[in-house]
Amino acid sequence: MTKIVVLGAGYAGIACGVRLQKLDIPFTLINKHRYHYFTTLLHELAGGRNDAEEYYVDLEDVLNEDQATIIQDVVTALRPQENKIITEKSEYEYDYLVFALGNAPEFFGIPGLKEHALLLRSLDTAKEIREHVEEQFLLYNQDQDSTRLRIIVGGAGLTGIELVGELAEWLPQLTAAYRVPSHQVEVINIEAAPVILPMLDKSLQETAMNVLTKKGIKIRTGEKITRVGEHVVELASGETIEAKTIIWTGGVRANPLLAEAGFETDPRGRAKVNEYLQSVDYENVFVLGDSSCFIGPDGKPLPPTGQLASQMGEHCAKNLNALLRHQELRPFEFHYMGTLASLGSEVGVGNIKGFKTSGVPAGFLKEMTKVKYLYNLGGLRMVAKKRGQFMHR
Ligand code: NAD
Repeated sequence: MTKIVVLGAGYAGIACGVRLQKLDIPFTLINKHRYHYFTTLLHELAGGRNDAEEYYVDLEDVLNEDQATIIQDVVTALRPQENKIITEKSEYEYDYLVFALGNAPEFFGIPGLKEHALLLRSLDTAKEIREHVEEQFLLYNQDQDSTRLRIIVGGAGLTGIELVGELAEWLPQLTAAYRVPSHQVEVINIEAAPVILPMLDKSLQETAMNVLTKKGIKIRTGEKITRVGEHVVELASGETIEAKTIIWTGGVRANPLLAEAGFETDPRGRAKVNEYLQSVDYENVFVLGDSSCFIGPDGKPLPPTGQLASQMGEHCAKNLNALLRHQELRPFEFHYMGTLASLGSEVGVGNIKGFKTSGVPAGFLKEMTKVKYLYNLGGLRMVAKKRGQFMHR
């Protein structure tokens, strides 16, 4: 039997697995955790909106053991010449490999950043941020150190903006609960570029700026973080800002395993793929999602997003089906559905299929995209299981 191994159960890997299952194709899925989590919603967990249960699904709940062999393990190396992958616990051979191991944080070589900043990357790191922030409020009452009440978020892309939107809503609750002086609580979002949310147009960027500023967030654009120490950030201007909480959302690059295994990569470490999503180096390796360098119609690599990863996952499964049936592969086409950024639990900004939206309707659309995603994963049963509470709110 043809051995298909899927690495990673992020947006790309899970979409590929669900589609393979629908096509009745057996495969092995290797993933660090026994669950799939919603990377693009982690800011909600970090910002105290809901508990962790809302942000993951168990793999066994989505994949059927008749088709999917789920292995909880960590991939440590690829050996594409031998059709083999190495993991912490074992090694596996394959006929076809689907590489969907997501991204790695991009630190741009900024001294001290890796050592001293918190990251928003997984359920665990989201919980870490939440607990860390709450602990600072608690400790403030013991030592009155005002830097405990200051939070610096580096980067104003989707991750940074959605995170500060959550914090703006959560911190007043913490302030009241821990009885700390509200005028000392400060969230500073530092962005090197002249604008926030560069993927949106100017009017939506301005709307987001206004909403967040009104909620008390200090957004400083055109200011670059150049050095980070323990509880201190240094800007290109030489200014230093002290804070007990420093969170980095300044960008991502590809998973390093591809470059380490000798795949041809772009400057962000993404492996080059052909129109069918196969690696240009190894035809039996598909590279999907944030680690894939797929050239779009404008001649540039498509930027990494959850929707791109999901679409690649589905398409890859269909092409694997074609290969097994000795049919022709179909080229991948990305259908951009739009971008929505939440600014707290009720409002947002974005565009859907070319139409601009902001305020409550954008917030509502964002909630609807979550329901749709759950439906695609596991039908109504999954929506009822994970969003039952939401539907009644
Ligand atoms: P990003 O690369 O989109 O944004 C990072 C920001 O950090 C940039 O604006 C950059 O100018 C800034 N920056 C970089 N270096 C800096 C420095 N030294 N000082 C200050 N600012 C600096 O990264 P992201 O927001 O983490 O997003 C990564 C990917 O994940 C994107 O493709 C995004 O679309 C996707 N994502 C999607 C969602 C969603 O769909 N809701 C949510 C989060 C992330």
